[in-house]
Amino acid sequence: MDKHEQMKQVRDDVFACKACGLCKTRLMPVIGRGNHDAKILFIGEAPGDNEDKTGLPFVGAAGQLLDKLLSQAGISNKDIYICNVLKCRPPDNRDPEEKEKIACLSFLTRQIEIVQPDVIICLGKHAAETVFKVFGMSDNSIIMGKIHGKLFEPDINFKKMSVLVGDVAMSMVKICVMYHPAALLYNKSLMPVAVEDFKNVKKHL
Ligand code: URA
Repeated sequence: MDKHEQMKQVRDDVFACKACGLCKTRLMPVIGRGNHDAKILFIGEAPGDNEDKTGLPFVGAAGQLLDKLLSQAGISNKDIYICNVLKCRPPDNRDPEEKEKIACLSFLTRQIEIVQPDVIICLGKHAAETVFKVFGMSDNSIIMGKIHGKLFEPDINFKKMSVLVGDVAMSMVKICVMYHPAALLYNKSLMPVAVEDFKNVKKHL
């Protein structure tokens, strides 16, 4: 199966999923958008109201800011793939629950495997916690003010295991955490550092 068909399979599986209660309250599941061969994979938290209505990630106010940060950094939407930890909107945009994140995790790991990015950019703490767990890394040290913009590698045992099972791409991936655009809308003083962090992403293209 080529990447397009594999992603279509993920989409079909998400549409059929009843693993948590969110499928009862959401309008549209939100799978992802962008280039299936992208070197940079952005991962957000969960769909909001606009995403729920359109089925597309990051199309509301936070998405508009994300587009602006990307274009200021000289990164085109064609250069990235973007998706979320949760594929269905939590009611009233509440934080994702642990059981929902676990129920949705295999869709995210399949998307990572399909795209095989060089760099994963986690937008915000929820995405960072999930991605760190996927790559066997401790999530104790996720303090946004300290780690934003820095590059991390998967845990050494995760890397060895990936190589052993022939998944070299997963062992080579780098992980970076950035402020979530919604946090930037709320706290504008974080904007200058976020602009710099986004500019640094460009060098991975
Ligand atoms: N916030 C997210 O984390 N994801 C979206 O798709 C929209 C807003």
